[in-house]
Amino acid sequence: MWILYVILALIVLFLIVIVCRALAFKPKPKTPAEPEEVSFDRDGAVKALAALVSCRTVSYSEPEKEDGAEFDRLTGMLPELYPNVAAECSLQRFPDRGLLFRWPGKGSGDPAVLMAHYDVVPVEEANWDRPPFSALIEDGVMWGRGTLDTKVTFNGILYAADQLISQGFRPEHDIYLAFSGCEETNGPGAEHIVEYFVQNGIVPSFVLDEGGAVVEGVFPGVSEPCAMIGIAEKGQVNLEYSVASGGGHASAPGPRTPIGILSSACKAVEAHPFPMHITKPVEAMFDTLGRRSSFAYRLIFANLWCFRGILDKICKKSGGELNALVRTTVAFTQMSGSGAPNVLPSRASMVSNIRLNPADSVASAQEYIRGAVKDDAVSIRAFKTMEPSPISDTECDGWRKVCSAVAATWKGCIVSPYLMVQCSDSRHYRDLSDRVYRFSAMDLTAEERHSIHGDNERIRLETVGRATEFFIRLIKQC
Ligand SMILES: [Zn+2]
Repeated sequence: MWILYVILALIVLFLIVIVCRALAFKPKPKTPAEPEEVSFDRDGAVKALAALVSCRTVSYSEPEKEDGAEFDRLTGMLPELYPNVAAECSLQRFPDRGLLFRWPGKGSGDPAVLMAHYDVVPVEEANWDRPPFSALIEDGVMWGRGTLDTKVTFNGILYAADQLISQGFRPEHDIYLAFSGCEETNGPGAEHIVEYFVQNGIVPSFVLDEGGAVVEGVFPGVSEPCAMIGIAEKGQVNLEYSVASGGGHASAPGPRTPIGILSSACKAVEAHPFPMHITKPVEAMFDTLGRRSSFAYRLIFANLWCFRGILDKICKKSGGELNALVRTTVAFTQMSGSGAPNVLPSRASMVSNIRLNPADSVASAQEYIRGAVKDDAVSIRAFKTMEPSPISDTECDGWRKVCSAVAATWKGCIVSPYLMVQCSDSRHYRDLSDRVYRFSAMDLTAEERHSIHGDNERIRLETVGRATEFFIRLIKQC
């Protein structure tokens, strides 16, 4: 009988502990917002963006499809759109459409680097409700490919600099405005700029590139707007799995066909998800947003020491963004066999795109997959690999400047670090700086996020103004 009392007492004690921990898991104070208003010509920012959007600066994986004249048209417009930048900053051009403006500061401290790209992904024009390069403005919205990704921040950086120069502002230290015109095809424009910095001993005080945004409803139990600033990004490796066979007629197949073997391999990989690993950016995110979540979720996030397993199961089951934050993910994307329905393939193959958690590497992921497939008939080859980025510092001035500009522009939002699950050009700074932040200066609805790389990409005009406002607030601290 006494054993029952002991068990009961332990259960009560356990409940008291987890409830007390959840109650003590209180929100941290929000980043203080600078109350000062900034004034600038908001209509001018919209006009400049429209001019950029009208250029068909589309990057293709087949470069012969690209229209070089459109890229030249855009760069040719810059002195007219941003005359003060053209007068005050030197411009250096790099191969693969890299552009680097240097805005000289008063002192000789480490410079800030503000990044964006001015190329865009292709469009399927037939699916669009408005022409994708018209920059048509209707009901307070501008339509066009690249409005969100990332001509708005390209314009925001340049327009903010232009307005500040016209007001007589000069930064304390140099600021580099670093732009690439081939980001969407993973081209080396940004890499050349990084090489230039390395060769000239230029070490940034911080780097800001595209990344998270101000979003709502992305974290369980949190309804307030959250500004998500990436402090690391996942890596990537593509694996091709192939099986060779003698081919032959489909009327008399052997006991195992190449596609059957690949299907088993695919099933085995999907049945062995990578283990959950909560890295520093995600831990920091749980610690910021988890504290502002509903009580049921706070119970989980305050007690990960005992609810890790439950979180792991929830993530595996739900898939999607939450799952992508806590583990390396595998998505099978391509498969090919023979050219005819009645011919056995002499070689069949499939491809998986793997996004690497910062705890994994290209090599460790390959080894894990080989262990899951366990079939010598399947050859595995890696291509287009990128290691995960290092994790950036959040205890420095660079981080605080970005956070304070965010908090002042989107008053009342929760500012949180997070792990970016996509790749950006900022990954090239891996050996140069541990102060690389990834934030696209916009507040985005779920629908708007969906239109990035999709059909009917468009931007609210107030978003264009706020992006510029953010860069003005940030640059004023540099
Ligand atoms: Zn993009």
